[in-house]
Amino acid sequence: MTQGKTGRIAVVGSNMVDLVTYTNRMPAPGETLEAPSFEMGCGGKGANQAVAAALLGSTVGMVTKVGDDMFADNTIRNFRDHGVDTTHVVKVAGMTSGVAPIFVEPSGENSILIVKGANATLSPADVDAAEDMLSQADLILMQLEIPLETVRHTVRRAAQWGVRTILNPAPASPDLRVEDLRDLSFLVPNESELALLSGMPTDSEDQITSAARSLIAKGIGNVIVTLGGRGARWITAERLVPVPALTVSPVDTTGAGDAFIGAFAHFLAATGETETALNKAARYAALSVTRRGTQKSYATAEEFDSFCA
Ligand code: ATP
Repeated sequence: MTQGKTGRIAVVGSNMVDLVTYTNRMPAPGETLEAPSFEMGCGGKGANQAVAAALLGSTVGMVTKVGDDMFADNTIRNFRDHGVDTTHVVKVAGMTSGVAPIFVEPSGENSILIVKGANATLSPADVDAAEDMLSQADLILMQLEIPLETVRHTVRRAAQWGVRTILNPAPASPDLRVEDLRDLSFLVPNESELALLSGMPTDSEDQITSAARSLIAKGIGNVIVTLGGRGARWITAERLVPVPALTVSPVDTTGAGDAFIGAFAHFLAATGETETALNKAARYAALSVTRRGTQKSYATAEEFDSFCA
């Protein structure tokens, strides 16, 4: 069952508004083109992971920044509608919110621009201002759509508070150094993020294990590599635990990684068992790829329970 003990999860991360235009083709420079349809949705890796954990029943608090534009209130309302605590969602005067203009062509090909907006100003001071919530959390979740110095600071402070941390190093950043993450509990990269961070190839299972262990040798407790339809691998200094993917017919895999991490955090905080939490997270992410959209594809606890029944 999904219900039962629930944990306290804090997310130090991004929020974005996805502005999705469905177009027959991309306009040439200087050309104006009519496109058939448009959709708007709440996104951003931090927000997605927060919403997934909240839908499953965790108590979730978000540390993030929005602008002072028309998107800000919509983002805050979306957090509240999902029961996410917005005490530490700060509005920044004179800045835009994070937005992601996305263009989808009939082939399904996506062209995406990310404008970080207020997310780029989330600072170590904002983390310290949220100490009351962060220091009481069971887990703190982070991604890389906020400044790296804020991620490094959060990892250090969390270790002082005795709170475990999960970092999803996405989108991949060449400036992230493993040495800065010595106190991190769980690093959750996909194959290409693992290759960039370790500087090693990740084309085979053995290479993935070696690359992950090279990071563990530098002080990271656990590496969980996600491999899309091939599931995930939990790698520690001593263990290699395969996490099988569920066989489903994918409809839209956008946001699968965020579904996996939000669900992993929820089940880890609720059960304290890493392997159980990973297997449930793989099921939750598999369910999300059978539905369209990002946050819209995330199941509630009840829907997930009936999927697993
Ligand atoms: P994204 O950035 O698109 O969200 P990602 O690269 O961070 O994705 P993936 O490794 O693609 O993350 O997916 C995360 C997890 O979701 C996988 O480990 C797997 O458990 C599940 N998953 C993804 N795609 C599929 C699929 N086609 N079928 C079943 N499970 C899937």
